[in-house]
Amino acid sequence: MPWRVDPVDSKAGKRPDPYFIWMSEVMLQQTTVAAVKEYFRKFTTIWPTVHDLAAAEDADVMAAWAGLGYYARARNLLKCARVVVNDHGGAFPDSYDTLLTLPGVGPYTAAAVASIAFNRKATVLDGNVERVMARMHDIHDPLPGVKPVLMQYAETFTPNGRAGDYAQAVMDLGATICTPKNPACGICPWRDPCAARVAGTAAELPKKTPKKKTPIRLGYVYVARRDDGAWLLETRPEKGLLGGMLAFPSSDWSDDPTPDPPIDTEWIDSGYEARHTFTHFHLRLKIMTADVANPTSPDRGHFVNHNEFSPTALPTAMRKVFDLIPRRDATIENKAR
Ligand code: SF4
Repeated sequence: MPWRVDPVDSKAGKRPDPYFIWMSEVMLQQTTVAAVKEYFRKFTTIWPTVHDLAAAEDADVMAAWAGLGYYARARNLLKCARVVVNDHGGAFPDSYDTLLTLPGVGPYTAAAVASIAFNRKATVLDGNVERVMARMHDIHDPLPGVKPVLMQYAETFTPNGRAGDYAQAVMDLGATICTPKNPACGICPWRDPCAARVAGTAAELPKKTPKKKTPIRLGYVYVARRDDGAWLLETRPEKGLLGGMLAFPSSDWSDDPTPDPPIDTEWIDSGYEARHTFTHFHLRLKIMTADVANPTSPDRGHFVNHNEFSPTALPTAMRKVFDLIPRRDATIENKAR
């Protein structure tokens, strides 16, 4: 992993860059290592230090984050970088308690940065560690209610020395050996004391409280193009889903959405529906399209010239909308020629 320090270098006393550890941990929340690597490289190439990130334009950071999801993380990333530069002289604090005061830094991220970047004793408890702890102690009470108990066990395992190595090792154990299905108990360094291995219950742990059925929300999304090829886009409000991201204008997203076109013109039902799943609901957006003249003044949003528009700056839900309108796009391209 590009944010880690090689074990040989670590033994020689080299510490990881707290900026890299913090950024990787924020990106890894709800996201796989495979997906994060590319974004981590992009961010640390464009903004190699926390000072560079703090000075970045909000829109550039949101565009670079597009596709990684959970966009509140990107907004907090920027806020946090600015707090570190403005209030902490550009140096990440090394204590768990102070790290917790930073925007977007919760108990897990604070513990990860304190232990991995600064070798401070702090207990990490992510999904991998929860699984390892539930199995080591053969705990059958379901998550999330049992989390405090698992935290207590995780704390008893956390050593006073080499806290960073331990944090990474226990998370790696969960990610690579004590996996959700088919844990590789035969090669596990903790196979002897593991209670679930002895009881034969490892594969069924941790138990989880059954989730409620995910609701479906509906909405209209409006794709308008001017006759010079410019796209109508808007920056979504800071608060709420896809906050601060560039998007096609849309109606409310609910059981019974109210049409809310951004321009008073003739809208055509494209017959396409973009589907995207957020954490708490499935979204279905009916795609409405319109061709409009140049100039046209929208009630909201702004036109972005075709050659300045990059679909990669759109969040995934809006990228799906874009990907569903290629034939119409080709028609407009031909008209514009
Ligand atoms: S022995 Fe098996 S169940 Fe127990 S911690 Fe190791 S891999 Fe997980």
